[in-house]
Amino acid sequence: MPSATLEISAQPPEKLTGIQIDKTKTAAAGVPAVTNSLKHVYGNSGLLRGTAAMLKINQWKGFDCPSCAWPDPDDHRSAFEFCENGAKAIASETTKQRVTPEVFAQYSVAELSQWSDFEMDQAGRVTHPMVLREGETHYQPIAWKEAFDLIAQELNSLSSPDEAVFYTSGRATNEAAFLYQLFVRQFGTNNLPDCSNMCHESSGAAMMEAVGIGKGTVTLKDLETADTILIIGQNPGTNHPRMLTSLQRSVEAGATIIAVNPMKEAGLTGFMHPQQVKGVMGMSTPLATQFLQVRLNGDQALLKAIAKTLIEDGTYDEAFIREHTVGFDEYRTHLLALDWAELESISGLQRADMEKAARQCAGRQRKLITCWAMGLTQHKNAVATIQEVINIHLLLGAVGRESAGLCPVRGHSNVQGDRTMGVFEKMPEWFMDRLEQVFEFKVPRHHGWDVVASIRAMHEGRGKVFYALGGNFLQATPDTEYTAEALRRCHLTVQISTKLNRSHLVTGRTGLILPCLGRSEVDIRGNTDSFLTVENSMSVVHTSHGQLEPASPHLLSEPDIIARTAAAVLGDRSKVDWMYLAEDYDRIRDLIEKVVPGFEDFNVRVRQPGGFYLPNPVRERQWVVPGGKAKIKTHALDCVTTSAGQLVLQTFRSHDQFNTTVYGLNDRYRGIGNERRVIFMNPDDMKSRSISPVSPVDITSHFQGEERHARRFLAIPYDLPAGSCAAYFPEANVLVPIGSFADISLTPTSKSVIVTVTSSQP
Ligand code: SF4
Repeated sequence: MPSATLEISAQPPEKLTGIQIDKTKTAAAGVPAVTNSLKHVYGNSGLLRGTAAMLKINQWKGFDCPSCAWPDPDDHRSAFEFCENGAKAIASETTKQRVTPEVFAQYSVAELSQWSDFEMDQAGRVTHPMVLREGETHYQPIAWKEAFDLIAQELNSLSSPDEAVFYTSGRATNEAAFLYQLFVRQFGTNNLPDCSNMCHESSGAAMMEAVGIGKGTVTLKDLETADTILIIGQNPGTNHPRMLTSLQRSVEAGATIIAVNPMKEAGLTGFMHPQQVKGVMGMSTPLATQFLQVRLNGDQALLKAIAKTLIEDGTYDEAFIREHTVGFDEYRTHLLALDWAELESISGLQRADMEKAARQCAGRQRKLITCWAMGLTQHKNAVATIQEVINIHLLLGAVGRESAGLCPVRGHSNVQGDRTMGVFEKMPEWFMDRLEQVFEFKVPRHHGWDVVASIRAMHEGRGKVFYALGGNFLQATPDTEYTAEALRRCHLTVQISTKLNRSHLVTGRTGLILPCLGRSEVDIRGNTDSFLTVENSMSVVHTSHGQLEPASPHLLSEPDIIARTAAAVLGDRSKVDWMYLAEDYDRIRDLIEKVVPGFEDFNVRVRQPGGFYLPNPVRERQWVVPGGKAKIKTHALDCVTTSAGQLVLQTFRSHDQFNTTVYGLNDRYRGIGNERRVIFMNPDDMKSRSISPVSPVDITSHFQGEERHARRFLAIPYDLPAGSCAAYFPEANVLVPIGSFADISLTPTSKSVIVTVTSSQP
């Protein structure tokens, strides 16, 4: 363990950085998106490397943006096929800064942990495999072979494979993910938690039960030809910015956008296309024509109000309901019994506005598409709420036909692909059967641990080795101090990473950092530079072909690291020739083709420009559910409840961050500069607590008698419903209780944390 002098901080430092307040914006992108992109790219990567990166990102033969999973256009590529946050992601990866063994020698782990997450990202790319040995205060270089031997020794000394946790972040490519799940299952466990457990798990659970697939059912073309687009619990301007290009096309084609969000996010109200004259001149295309500022966790009441209106108006598709669904009668009875006043009080919205939204959804040809993200998935009742979205589409027959359907928008570039490859703690029997047939080994059938169960198991000493394929587990997960303690109790923690992050600093007895190639970097296999593949939010599987010189000659690709780990750990217990597979990724793809449906002729089809769509039975109105008909699900109306003086807090991202990676301290659309320790509050909620604008406050969360604290945030008066407030993660993750998660999906409830806010004591 590190030197006794300085504590290793599991949380970002509480120091304030000198806030600058500016006007909130009513339109996203525009010239500032261009200047910001150039500032980040040239500021980090330099002229040549930066320019090369921008010319290759998301191009036909280029590399896939390592940020969100928004699809590329099916039929063309613009010269600059990326958004501002794609530019920040690539600037962060292609930076010239390096975290060398000399840097690790200069700073102890405790000293590094006093850095902010922004400072860690700015430090640059890790260049060598590093080890933090028990009792040491500094990381030291370690040879790759010695690192794999150390992992093998620790894993093989466990009394059960179920004492190991194998985490995956959504950046891992298909080939790495497939090899990983195969290695882990050959090792003997299904402990395969992934970042999806914390984001769209609720969507997958809701959709699998109701319509038989856990993925979106629409294409870009559908979105651009829809009549009505309902965007609920999503902030595309920051988290999926190229979506705004499609929304602009939809609006120009006559679509109506209804936005549902506690905060009037700029990317929902207007868009200045930075590659069009109009946009460059600062003229924005208005997006949402109806904006419903719902209370946090008030979405279910709103969706029931919309469905109730469809029933009361009789504007539902009887023929479709009869032919394709079950459960209508029970649902109709439930809706008619609902009280409008209760729906208004829970949602924080007016009946007239909710009816207006319903009539818009049922209008014209019912070409309705609903897009959603974490604003729906991270609540206790998330699965039930998402099934209300599905119910509305089933009532209208707005699914399984052109320009209509369901669109859960994925946050991480290959989070959907990883799940398709088998990275899931509870894969279906057919997948396990296929693995057994193809690889002739006994696959463990008992379900594994998801993220919350893994943290608890490590905290209770049942999980002893933590191995992460990418990500920043400590900062992405809830209950930061509890999770930190869980990691510290491990014998070994291993992180495959590109850059320094806080999860490297809170380790088990021994900690390993295994630096890998970035998505943008050339990956030479044998004498050919090879490509990897990913799957975007609309189920398109396509190539990602690294183009740039690697940040260090000591890096290995993710598939290579997995193959060497597997070979070292499993030895001759496995018949798989891991290194043979890592030598040529076509060989891995041939095996994927044998196991995963929809990947027929994988190596041929993926080489077509733009790749291929995976099959989606719902698009053909085939419902792969027991009984063969889509399920209209009836759930009791519920929402999070607070006591006097309490508020509901959501954790979310600033505009200068992607998941836990912090590219900068600004949040320009919300008018915040140079500060991350802020809490956005309703002005009346501030007044009633005698909290003055931009004054320091402390936040306390309350859960089953437990309290958790986050101190020294600046209170920002903001236009959001009374009783709702918001703060950035990872700073606010310490407030999210490990025991508070969604029914069925077990996703942490990061969007509805019960808190009290008080002025900080001097
Ligand atoms: S929309 Fe998402 S995938 Fe596309 S460039 Fe932006 S961040 Fe990258």
